[in-house]
Amino acid sequence: MNRVIVLIACCCLANPAIAGDIGEQQTAGPSPAETRARAFIEGVVSIGFAEFRRRNNTEPLSREARAAILAALPPQGALVPTRAERTKLAALDQVFDLYNRLGAVDVRVVDLKPALVAVHQREILLITRQALSLVSPRELQAIGAHELAHEYFWKDFDTALNANAYERLQELELMCDGLAVMALQSLGIGRSHLINAATKLTRYNERTAARIMTSRQVSLERRVAFIKQVDALLAAGRR
Ligand SMILES: [Zn+2]
Repeated sequence: MNRVIVLIACCCLANPAIAGDIGEQQTAGPSPAETRARAFIEGVVSIGFAEFRRRNNTEPLSREARAAILAALPPQGALVPTRAERTKLAALDQVFDLYNRLGAVDVRVVDLKPALVAVHQREILLITRQALSLVSPRELQAIGAHELAHEYFWKDFDTALNANAYERLQELELMCDGLAVMALQSLGIGRSHLINAATKLTRYNERTAARIMTSRQVSLERRVAFIKQVDALLAAGRR
């Protein structure tokens, strides 16, 4: 079970951030991570999300490589999804398709107390049963849109994680939130679903004190503010 926690903590959505953590700005102004993430998203907006995806498209791992990664997953904590869970998870296909990953992402439901979602080794989406139970299908799509955006930065993420570069990790998380908003817009889904999903998972983890990693996390309030900023950028682009 501990190995599952390690895997899922490598890249997880909606861990609560503790006020005062390293890199978490308490002032009203944007942090350097927020400023850089906003500049990145402005660049994507200027070319359009479809063009960004085209320029940064990566090929999925081979079926054999995915099978090897799956085989290496610890069996402890792995769950067989119920019919209702499978129905909800099917909503992710729309998101996988947008990211050119339809049929190339394996989804695994795991039995852990925290409400967490993570991409493991680029192609396996790990979601705890608790997280799955908390969110609606639309909110699950919003989470998927954030998680699949990590594909564009997985090398940067690994480098920052190994260097404990918390500010860079926060920047990358916000960049993924920004791309998720753009992905949702492409699918005709409102950004409120991303905010709701992040809020539900974060608040649940706060209530249950299910804190695993915090220093690289952006606070929920800052995430929500950033998501709204990106939405405003996109709205301005439509006018
Ligand atoms: Zn993330």
